Amino acid sequence: MRRTIFLRIFGGYALIILILGLLTIIFSHAFEKRFHIETLSQELEDLGHTLEPNVLQLMEENRMDALDSYAKQIGEKINTRITVIDLEGKVLADSDSNPETMENHRYRPEIIKAYTGVTGTSVRFSRTVKEKMLYVGLPLRIKGEVSGVLRLSLYFERINDWFSRLRTNSAAIILVLITLSLFASYLLSKNISKPIKRLKDAAQKTASGEMNVQVLLKGKGELPELAESFNSMTDRISQLFDGLNAQKEQLMCILQTMEEGLVTLDSKGAIIFGNDQFKSMIKNNSPEGKFYWEFIRNPEFKNIVTQTNAEHKTQTQEVHYDDKVYLCSANYLETRNEIVITFHEITQERNLEKIKKDFVVNVSHELRTPLTSIKGYLETIEGLDEVQQKYLDTAIRNTDRLINIVKDLLLISEIESDEFEPKQESVDINELLLRITRIFQQKIKQKKLEFQTALQKNIPEIKGDSFELEQMLINLVDNAVKYTEKGAIEISTKNINSHIEIVISDTGIGIPEQELPRIFERFYVVDKSRSRKVGGTGLGLSIVKHIIQVHQGSIKVESAPEEGTTFIIRLPVKSKV
Ligand code: ADP
Repeated sequence: MRRTIFLRIFGGYALIILILGLLTIIFSHAFEKRFHIETLSQELEDLGHTLEPNVLQLMEENRMDALDSYAKQIGEKINTRITVIDLEGKVLADSDSNPETMENHRYRPEIIKAYTGVTGTSVRFSRTVKEKMLYVGLPLRIKGEVSGVLRLSLYFERINDWFSRLRTNSAAIILVLITLSLFASYLLSKNISKPIKRLKDAAQKTASGEMNVQVLLKGKGELPELAESFNSMTDRISQLFDGLNAQKEQLMCILQTMEEGLVTLDSKGAIIFGNDQFKSMIKNNSPEGKFYWEFIRNPEFKNIVTQTNAEHKTQTQEVHYDDKVYLCSANYLETRNEIVITFHEITQERNLEKIKKDFVVNVSHELRTPLTSIKGYLETIEGLDEVQQKYLDTAIRNTDRLINIVKDLLLISEIESDEFEPKQESVDINELLLRITRIFQQKIKQKKLEFQTALQKNIPEIKGDSFELEQMLINLVDNAVKYTEKGAIEISTKNINSHIEIVISDTGIGIPEQELPRIFERFYVVDKSRSRKVGGTGLGLSIVKHIIQVHQGSIKVESAPEEGTTFIIRLPVKSKV
């Protein structure tokens, strides 16, 4: 049975009422019995005092037969047993028996007490009349001396009769009181439990989603106040729900109309939500509840999901799926332990990039041979006057620039291509640098620059592509020479924590701070006219950065205008390219 609040309150009341009723019956009975015995004893004592003068007179006159008749006569009238006992315990008179046949009463408790001069009372079984009786013994004094006992006794059966009537009456009264109390407590319990039940029912309805539930309780006190608070709470919740629903609708609208596919996965990889774009991408209308790998069996996608779950950080990765390329971005939702992944299709961009790259490679290839041929023919022209020679020099310089651009473009295309596999040779960086410095010796001398090297001896060889690495260092040293007019160029190497550090610094024109983040971009030059004058293509540093990247190294630049520039390169010693 459900322990409802009504049952709890009513049960509590009923239990208390029943216990109190039972205790009242038990204790009132015992108390009444004692009280009644005391009253009867007192009455018997008073009666004894009334009979005492007659008894004493007959005893003094030694008229024992008259005393016995007197006891029998009075005893019958007042319905009380009367016994007279002498100092030896001999029965001199008895209203209910023949004193001759009665045994000695010397040791009866009420008699013993009366012998001492005080009234003795006892309730016990009478061996003479074979019944339980109430005895009161009064000392009989002749000339101040106790010379016998007048004993009055009542049959207990009569007392019991009276008691059972009293008990029946008091039990009936108590039962009526219990019934009335139970009825009152029933009404009281209903009165308390009814509003609580109404509140409970309302709370259950609210919990099951019914938001406009109201409870109206009349009167004052805690429960009507509670009902009022409940009503304002449901009002507030309903407002919040409306707001949330509106927001949810808005969000769903955004999610369904966005161009990107979107999917939410739980920590085990099951799909919780997928927008329409995602569904059409995986060609399934109800992927919810299924695992993502049932639709996307792709190592790149698996990798991004695993990594986001493990690192709890945003991850971005290109994913190839169904002949298309997507830029996937995965975000971890801390509070729900879920991940949200968006699919931005970049197939067209990647195709365009490929077309652009192919175009650059094709054009560069096509231009290389005619340019080399033009330069060759230009160099054979002789016998020109001063002005014509100046024009010819300009033509040769620009052809050189074009050849350099074509060369750099081909190199960039090569290292950026997916098929590019750098060699894994043992490369001694110090040796490479010494070879390069020899190439630039002439130029350095011409510009009257100081040249210093500080190469650490016995630095370990690194694994890499020696041609690529040489190309990278040539570009950096070439820049140092190109952009320095006075002062010195310094090259140093050091072995630091399983890395080789190469520092190339100059005291040249320097690079303004705001230009530094862009110098590694393709075709980016700080000062166009100066770059053109020194034969720059704007591709050198982007080649440098690419080569360092494929060798898993890093490059840093520090520069200040008119003070100089320092490039710091770090390459891992056991690099596996
Ligand atoms: P470029 O062929 O024009 O030198 P780079 O890609 O090698 O192209 O360099 C990009 C730009 O960075 C250069 O145009 C130049 O402005 C600047 N730069 C590179 N190295 C240095 C340097 N050592 N000192 C000053 N400026 C430099």
